[in-house]
Amino acid sequence: MNIEEIESGGYRIGIPVPFPMKYVYCYLFPQNNDYVLIDVGFNYQAAREAWEEVFTYLKISPLQIKTIYLTHFHPDHSGLCGWMQQQTGAHVFMHEIDMQMMERVWGDDSVQTTRMKEMILDSGVPVPLSEAIIEHMEKITKHVLPLPKMTPIGRQVEFSGKIWDVIHTPGHSAGHICFYQKEDQILISGDHVLDKITPNISVWPGSSQEPLHEYIDSLLKIKQFPTKIVYSAHGKLIDDLNDRVDELILHHEERLLKMEQLANTKTAYEIAEVLFAHKDLSPHQWRFAIAETLAHLYFLVQENRVVKIGTKPVVYQKVI
Ligand SMILES: [Zn+2]
Ligand SMILES: [Zn+2]
Repeated sequence: MNIEEIESGGYRIGIPVPFPMKYVYCYLFPQNNDYVLIDVGFNYQAAREAWEEVFTYLKISPLQIKTIYLTHFHPDHSGLCGWMQQQTGAHVFMHEIDMQMMERVWGDDSVQTTRMKEMILDSGVPVPLSEAIIEHMEKITKHVLPLPKMTPIGRQVEFSGKIWDVIHTPGHSAGHICFYQKEDQILISGDHVLDKITPNISVWPGSSQEPLHEYIDSLLKIKQFPTKIVYSAHGKLIDDLNDRVDELILHHEERLLKMEQLANTKTAYEIAEVLFAHKDLSPHQWRFAIAETLAHLYFLVQENRVVKIGTKPVVYQKVI
């Protein structure tokens, strides 16, 4: 079991995910006689079993979890939330933008896979790969259902007997939030800032078309909050937030420069092929590679460093 006791009487709990990062770290805090849970995990057997072990180990009844906050809508954080709501009867809160995104991507009337196919074909992805990407995307749905009943989160919340500010940090997802405790200088960062891993910044249909601008603004925003320790959702804790923020910004600046050089009447797919040439990507990874390449290209287009030419497919050209 992957449980660590942290400040404020809380627990950092690693729940397995079937992805390279291995775990999503969820946070459980006492509040009066009950508990507040931040993020839940991906809906598959190993994660459900892990939660059952956690409840037994901590001698907690699931019914004591009265409130769940989700940092953002990604399946490794929110996928198990509907199941957890069934076990606990908890109220679930998240940012309104990500509530809408969850419904858009996995709701009954979702047209997201159709929109995704249009986006990747327009980016120059070959038809067989586009079909493999969509097929894989459809397989994710069962790992996020049932969708929880949700309420938009307010500006402040209370747990472990303390007030936490809810900070909107769009970029990694448009409705991403962090939690900040002023007196203790603690930041619960979700996927906004991670140790070692660079959070994925991507363009998706129906979401922000300028995620990288928003992400960099959100990185600068959290630098204004004096922070001793960051409880992130993957990897290790971070005790040098400002340095990590600087590293992340530098990473994107370097990547932007590289893409600008590669934008020589090429599609986003052709540029991604060069960037990720050293890796043998699965259809799932290709989806993220394309979406991340688009996030950087859209940034460059907005900054007038690159122009977008034509449609079906679109090509990108460096401004000389
Ligand atoms: Zn995420
Ligand atoms: Zn994540």
